[in-house]
Amino acid sequence: MIQVQNLTKTYGATRALENVNFQVCPGEVLGFLGPNGAGKSTTMKIITGFISPSAGTVKVGDLDVVDNSFEIRQKLGYLAETNPLYTDMKVHEYLRFVAAARHIPSSERSNAIKAMVQVCGLFAVVGKSIDALSKGFRQRVGLAQAMIHNPDILILDEPTSGLDPNQIVEIRDLIRSIGKEKTIILSTHILPEVAATCSRVVIINNGTIVAQGTPDELMRGSSREVVYIKIKGDRGIIRQTLSEYHALGAIKQYAPEGRDIHAFAVEIKEGDGRELLFKAAVSNKWTLIEMYRKSENLEDVFRRLTTKENGV
Ligand code: ADP
Ligand code: MG
Repeated sequence: MIQVQNLTKTYGATRALENVNFQVCPGEVLGFLGPNGAGKSTTMKIITGFISPSAGTVKVGDLDVVDNSFEIRQKLGYLAETNPLYTDMKVHEYLRFVAAARHIPSSERSNAIKAMVQVCGLFAVVGKSIDALSKGFRQRVGLAQAMIHNPDILILDEPTSGLDPNQIVEIRDLIRSIGKEKTIILSTHILPEVAATCSRVVIINNGTIVAQGTPDELMRGSSREVVYIKIKGDRGIIRQTLSEYHALGAIKQYAPEGRDIHAFAVEIKEGDGRELLFKAAVSNKWTLIEMYRKSENLEDVFRRLTTKENGV
């Protein structure tokens, strides 16, 4: 179990994290989601013991990351955002170097390297120099170095950033299969990433946690629903009339279509908004051209929580 409690980090005048709290249970693949500059890398560097917090604690099991940094590094594997690799080494040389740095006994190093070549799909490149590898293979080598000492926990900072769509799918599949045996925290600002790989999501914005739960819970928890309608009638009267219904929230006009057909996105606060809107159209003798209902998806939730622009 990883417990992040009241974590705060300032870099000079910049407050990168403010009172961040979340937990990761054993076996979970946690998606750590947030726009650029939200504080994802800072949190991960603190969890892995690379930088220390300004306030608050991180515990891995019973161990505090500041007081027990050596023990915790044995249990953790870390793929940093920049994936620093010694590019003039061949893949097998680099993995041997990492195995030694990780204090894997010399008699076990060859087996550890073989296992990583297998798990991370490195057969084709094991004899190649790292600077000759594609970004996708470099990420695989980065994953291999993070896992070579068989840690229980993997901290992966934007593992698919900069990859092409095929490489993204490959790395995603790899992480998913590794996730069956390990606890993983994976940061990303890419939404499909989270839906495809993670069992739970923490959303961070401006250094504070703004939501957490399973992807389903986040979508259900929002319970925001919008009905899109196109109506033929007087725009001002339609808007005025709809604004008087308590069950309806924000009304936003979008893409006008022709002179007297008006398109609105209407936020529904309670009940089935479609019925209400249909009856409103009938009783006001407006012609209802089109109507459909849409619940918030994960992307809508993310955008609403991490941008100033509001919902609808
Ligand atoms: P993310 O990984 O979510 O993009 P970061 O944790 O890298 O976010 O950054 C959070 C905030 O802290 C940003 O405002 C960033 O500019 C600032 N920051 C990160 N690292 C440093 C540093 N070494 N010195 C000063 N400010 C930093
Ligand atoms: Mg980052």
